[in-house]
Order: sequence, then C-alpha cells, then structure tokens
Amino acid sequence: MKLIVGNLKMNLLSTAERDRYFESFKKELKDSKVGNVQIVLCVPSIHLESFTKKIKSKSVEIGSQNIFWEEKGSYTGEISAPMVASLGAQYSIIGHSERRRYFGETSAQANMKIKVALKNKLTPIYCVGETKEEKENGDAAQVIIQQISEAFAGISSTQASKIVIAYEPVWSVGSDIVPSSDEILEIKILLKKIFVELYGLPVAEKISVLYGGSVKSELINQVCIEPGMDGVLVGRESLVPRDFFKIVKIINKN
Ligand code: PEP
Repeated sequence: MKLIVGNLKMNLLSTAERDRYFESFKKELKDSKVGNVQIVLCVPSIHLESFTKKIKSKSVEIGSQNIFWEEKGSYTGEISAPMVASLGAQYSIIGHSERRRYFGETSAQANMKIKVALKNKLTPIYCVGETKEEKENGDAAQVIIQQISEAFAGISSTQASKIVIAYEPVWSVGSDIVPSSDEILEIKILLKKIFVELYGLPVAEKISVLYGGSVKSELINQVCIEPGMDGVLVGRESLVPRDFFKIVKIINKN
C-alpha cells in the first residue's frame, strides 16, 4: 500500500476557503479509485478538527504539520501530540525543512517529537534531506546519516517500524527542481542500509520511505515508481484537490 501525504502548509486562510477545499476534495475522492493508496492530509492545526469531522473515509487520514515535544504546560503557541490525537488525527510531520529553516529546529528536537508522537499513537513522518550546498560539497550522505542517527536515538525496533521517512532534498522543496530517479534511489538505498545497521533487515523493510520535493503528476514515474519509493509527500500540488488526485490516480494504478 503506497502512502500519499499532502502538506497543506500555511494555507486555507478562511473557513470559506477551507469549506471549498472540502467540497472539491470530497468530489475528487468520490470520482477516483484509491483502493491501493493511503492518503494523509497534513493540515494547519486550526483546521484539524474540521478535517477529521468532515472527511470520513478509510482511504484518508488526517495529520498535523508539527507538534511540540512536551505534552502540556507553559509553552505559548505550541500544540501537543495529545491535542492532535484527541482531534482524531493519526499522523504528524516532524522535522520538515521549513521548520528547520525558519525555526531552527534540529534533529535532536525531532527525536523528542518522534517519541511523544509515538507515545500518543501518532505516526511520525520524519523529514530528512540535504541543502544545495551540502549536495554540491558531496556531503548529502553524511547529513542524512546524522539526521537519522540523532532523530532515532533511544528509539526501539518496535517504535522504529512505525516511523515514516520522507526524503526531501531541501533544494527541491518549493523549487520545481527535482532529483533524477537514480539520485532518489541512491538515498533510498542509503536509508535502508542505515536502518539495517540500526535495527536489522525485518525492521528496515517495514520503515516506509517517501520522496518529497516539487512532486507533480507528470513526475511520478521519476520520483516514485522508478526508484521504488513507498509513496510521496506533496506540498503545493495538494492545494488543488484536482491536481492532488491526478497524483493519487497514477500511484494507485502502479
Ligand atoms: C513539502 O511541503 O514537503 C514539499 C515537498 O513541498 P512542495 O511539493 O511544494 O515542493
């Protein structure tokens, strides 16, 4: 079963816009065959409750785009894993490159967030990936090894097998530049090797690895099918349900 994650980012600015999104999303869902895919919509936290209430389909789960590492207390402006879970969400993105870039989030913080997500039965979608400069300097592999080893510190094999990884090269997120399928495959192999070393083959096989970064329907072969990814994380193209479902349909057929 392939996983298709939509990251709506900081969009749907009014209840009217959100409701239009629901209508259009529900229409596309009804008209599309999605039997072989699991869709996860990671929505702005202010819309979590309305999404979990309005979109009722076993093909679609709802997630947050971030959580805090503590469960409750004096952390003004943060949202916690129990809050997200209590609204019926099942997933949370953790360590997205936009959080690392604008809020200075680190892999050590992602480690705490992954732990609190799992404790609250949320599936973490942990984002890793190198910047343009790191790639040009030949440091991509090292960066990813570090992002994984810091974020998985103290995580057991049972916990690890529940985590989803999104390989999102920072230079591709929001840029319309995508890696070749060989480049993606290389990183997928690297990730599998890291997980085999950390947890052994059976666990490594259970950890889903997605590709994310400027995903569009025309690119699905290159970024998902050819490198044998377990799915995709889609940013901007998830904002128009019609475009998002073009991706869903192609992956569902393959
Ligand atoms: C993302 O938000 O993780 C992402 C990959 O964005 P985009 O598809 O817009 O590049």
